[in-house]
Amino acid sequence: MIRPRCPVPFCGSASPRKKLPRTSKQNFNPKRLDDPLTVLSGVGPATARAAATLGLFTIRDLLFHFPFRHEDYTSHRRIGELKWDEEATVSCCLESISRRPTRRRNLRLVVATVGDDTGYMEALWFNQDYLADQLTAGDRLLLRGRYYGGSRTFRVKGHELLGKQGAGLHTTGFVPVYETTARISVKRLRGWLGQCIQLAARMADPLPAGVRDGLRLPWKSDAVIAMHFPRTPADYATARRRLVFEELYLMQLGLLSHRQAYERERRGVRLRPSGELTRRFIEGLPFRLTSDQQQVCRQVSDDMAAGRPMQRLLQGDVGSGKTVVAVYTLLRAVENGRQAALMAPTEVLAEQHFLNIQHMLAGLDVGVALLSSRHKPAERRRLLEDIAAGRISLVVGTHALIQEDVSFPRLGVVVVDEQHRFGVDQREKLAEKATTGGVTPHVLHMTATPIPRTLALTLYGDLDVSLITTMPPGRQATVTRLVPERNRAQAYRFIRQQLDKGRQGYVVCPLIEESVAVDARAVSVEAERLARGEFKGYRLGMLHGQMSTEDKQETMAAFQRGDIQVLVTTTVIEVGVDVANATIMMVEEADRFGLAQLHQLRGRVGRGGHKSYCLLFGEGRSQQARRRLAAMESTSDGFRLADIDLEIRGEGQLFGLKQSGLPDLKLARLTRDQELLGQARELARDMIESDPGLARPEHTLLRDEVERVFGDSVKWLRRV
Ligand code: ADP
Ligand code: MG
Repeated sequence: MIRPRCPVPFCGSASPRKKLPRTSKQNFNPKRLDDPLTVLSGVGPATARAAATLGLFTIRDLLFHFPFRHEDYTSHRRIGELKWDEEATVSCCLESISRRPTRRRNLRLVVATVGDDTGYMEALWFNQDYLADQLTAGDRLLLRGRYYGGSRTFRVKGHELLGKQGAGLHTTGFVPVYETTARISVKRLRGWLGQCIQLAARMADPLPAGVRDGLRLPWKSDAVIAMHFPRTPADYATARRRLVFEELYLMQLGLLSHRQAYERERRGVRLRPSGELTRRFIEGLPFRLTSDQQQVCRQVSDDMAAGRPMQRLLQGDVGSGKTVVAVYTLLRAVENGRQAALMAPTEVLAEQHFLNIQHMLAGLDVGVALLSSRHKPAERRRLLEDIAAGRISLVVGTHALIQEDVSFPRLGVVVVDEQHRFGVDQREKLAEKATTGGVTPHVLHMTATPIPRTLALTLYGDLDVSLITTMPPGRQATVTRLVPERNRAQAYRFIRQQLDKGRQGYVVCPLIEESVAVDARAVSVEAERLARGEFKGYRLGMLHGQMSTEDKQETMAAFQRGDIQVLVTTTVIEVGVDVANATIMMVEEADRFGLAQLHQLRGRVGRGGHKSYCLLFGEGRSQQARRRLAAMESTSDGFRLADIDLEIRGEGQLFGLKQSGLPDLKLARLTRDQELLGQARELARDMIESDPGLARPEHTLLRDEVERVFGDSVKWLRRV
């Protein structure tokens, strides 16, 4: 089948179009992309096993094993034209070749005289003396290397025999460079691709013609070929754009299909408009809601008034006031005679929320309970009974709330806090578990780790998104300083000054990942040291993961009351702790923390009207760590930090798409491909609207492809 080639620009550069090799029929069946690599000549079972470590099993895998860069080997010269110090590709004839002894033990030279019709030169290879036996006079060669005019020698970087199958693969044009292993060299990979690249032409193109034409994207097969063997850099860029778009488009189709299936199949409770309880709650607050908070409350209320179960994400920076919105959401269910659950990622945070909510709801007559793994069996049984009987309407706990044996007969809403890795799969499971009597509760996800919009569209592409962008009034940005070790004493003096003014502070000890016990010890050792030394005469407390719930609650309450002035703590305070009078934080070994984590920690100060400070200690062992600390000093904008974090770390590490039930992005880079993502989102939305479930025959390929990339987690697509 011959297809028109895509309208890619071809600038007619100096390099001739590389003639791609044809494969001989006897060792290769050119019909199948799913053939194992062993159909390639030169690939036996052992080599195939080695290739498997690169994730290469089939011809298709190989075609999608893209180079991470190309060598520009487009410059071709004849020998007489070579300039001093110039790198070029030369096509020549071998006159003679021999080993040349050197005095250095680990240096072996092979020297050849080569010529074309413009002259002769010496070609030089280092440490490849077997070549002296492999190459013989009369061989026609392509040499890539650098010409040293003074000695008239040509140092060879790569060579290949002309006239051999696939000649030019390694020395001509834009030569692909691949990720390799000790067993599979780049040359080998190139050779294999040379053998099968034409098979790309058999690749089906899942993109609908309208979409492809609209964006002027090339055919998939052309793009795959050009990824390996582009004619020009623009050719490569177009190919990449094509494949990135497809990745993002398939992802968005999957996400939006999920959303469609969710809405179509699940019944939610229709909640009556805001009533008495929420009104009294809002009026009882010591402040007015910001306009962002009001807007989100309205959005939530509208969602819950429709028959569909709400699926909303609330993003807001640390300290932006999400808790009030969460409580409002919970109370909307309660005032409708429904139960509400708040799920936090850790027990400590659940406890903190519980205390907070109890405090906020004082006088409102709402049955609130904390369900923790630390309850005694009898107590737990009693709580579960109360929940099952509907006597408790608001339950706070960890994610175990939904997973375990808790039965909520009238669950109306779930708020999920601070869990930005709560992916599609987990959301689906949550809905599954929480559905009672055919009714799926409304769900509000909250994340305090701001994530770039691009990432939100990907990770949470199936949710509605609300944003709180303005901070409550009267906040001042926290001053952040990286403090060199030699100024430590000065830092303690500064903290004491704050304490003397009546403020409070945190000393954060690093989390040593091996064990909670080690962390706890580090905290108590440091607390003791400070109590005898720098903070002698001040009231110190400590908080770590090994304390009992009661002790933690007691400590936090004491800190809240101001009975404790300095809290020495592990990162358990990372999220949720809310003491407006705390204005200073020092973080030990801050270079060990991630950027999001540091930002979360810092969010514990700067919560009231007083100027706040964050002092970071730690030298910055790595370049990355130093960049993180510098970023912390330079901005307190969580979204800006999230972007920087994405830049520093690359998205691969940042969110582990795999855990979230989403397909991997192999080529797309969210920082770089924002515009394409926007287009993919829009076009996917159009598609899902016009052809729900991708059921039309002309979309069969597309649907197959979405199912393939989403794998097991795509059952929602089949349900539509
Ligand atoms: P986060 O979004 O990090 O969860 P919180 O909900 O803990 O933020 O709110 C941070 C602090 O701001 C709390 O002390 C809260 O009482 C206060 N706050 C929230 N909303 C407002 C508001 N509209 N005006 C003044 N203070 C507010
Ligand atoms: Mg919070």
